[in-house]
Amino acid sequence: MRYTTFGKTGYKVSSLGFGAMNLPGVPLEQARDALNYALDQGINYIDTAAGYRNSEEIIGESIAHRRSEYFLATKTNKRDYKSAKEEIERSLQRMKTDVIDLLQIHYVNHVHEFQAAMAEDGAYKAALEMKEKGYVRFIGITGHRPELLARWIGKGQFDQVLFHLNLAQPFALQELIPECTRLNLGKVAMKPLSGGFIQPVEKALRYPYSQDVHVTISGMVSVEEVKQNIAAQETEVGEEEKRGLELLAEELGGHNCRRCNYCSCPLGIAIPDVMISSRVRDTLGLLPKGQGFYERMKEKITSCADYEPCKEKPLCEEKCPYHLPMQATIQKAAMAYA
Ligand code: SF4
Ligand code: SF4
Repeated sequence: MRYTTFGKTGYKVSSLGFGAMNLPGVPLEQARDALNYALDQGINYIDTAAGYRNSEEIIGESIAHRRSEYFLATKTNKRDYKSAKEEIERSLQRMKTDVIDLLQIHYVNHVHEFQAAMAEDGAYKAALEMKEKGYVRFIGITGHRPELLARWIGKGQFDQVLFHLNLAQPFALQELIPECTRLNLGKVAMKPLSGGFIQPVEKALRYPYSQDVHVTISGMVSVEEVKQNIAAQETEVGEEEKRGLELLAEELGGHNCRRCNYCSCPLGIAIPDVMISSRVRDTLGLLPKGQGFYERMKEKITSCADYEPCKEKPLCEEKCPYHLPMQATIQKAAMAYA
């Protein structure tokens, strides 16, 4: 694990960040042990969101007494001033803290969402006001469309950006990460396993570690997982390994899906999950969580070929800003069940 200066903030942050999104799914004692063990081992970046069920409360219950030992990042997905302000106030209470180190405007994937958040009565104003009052130290933004994020950060309103960067989604490397570097922003990569699909875990975690990011957020729920994640960052990535990981990412990222979720399927097929994991599935095989996804989706995925309204023109493809061949990918994925 390495420590670097987190853009303009001046904080020295650990290269591995504790993603607290899944903590509400495990017993409180287990969550408390995992968080405390992570701090004991030198992880000093904790990431959560107001929208992750009671994750903020678990953090408050488990590690508020060690508040000086970690950089605390949370998010609001509200777009208007009033609800964002209320949510930030609630986050402070739930996490039992006087100050949030980083408040991110969460999950901004559409131009109209960005405009709403940045409007005169938008969420950004609430974040700024809380910053002026000393309740928030820095403001960031998160989203799934790297090229839009690269454009939006240009005006200097943000201190940090949170984006996907993993072996199956290397797209932030194209414009977003260089732009963040140019502006000296904090760079945080999320979903190194792409939501539980990519194995082996060590390789998946070493890819973002080999790139120009300050922190990789990994969702962890147990001491065992914390140990496994730390082990993956124990040694630096050499040039040869880095090149090998980059070649693999080029291949696995060839689907080009950004997970923007613009598409939707009337049958309920989780299109981005299939798009992003298809090549991983063929090349490396999936983690148990990813296999479970394909078992659950079997009926839906195999129905795509017979779905009458899409026979002439796939409904999903009309909505994709990247004009991707989703129908063909879904139907190819269906063949693996045969
Ligand atoms: S083509 Fe298949 S995946 Fe796309 S909307 Fe139609 S049924 Fe759903
Ligand atoms: S398939 Fe296209 S619209 Fe759907 S999530 Fe991927 S990039 Fe977005």
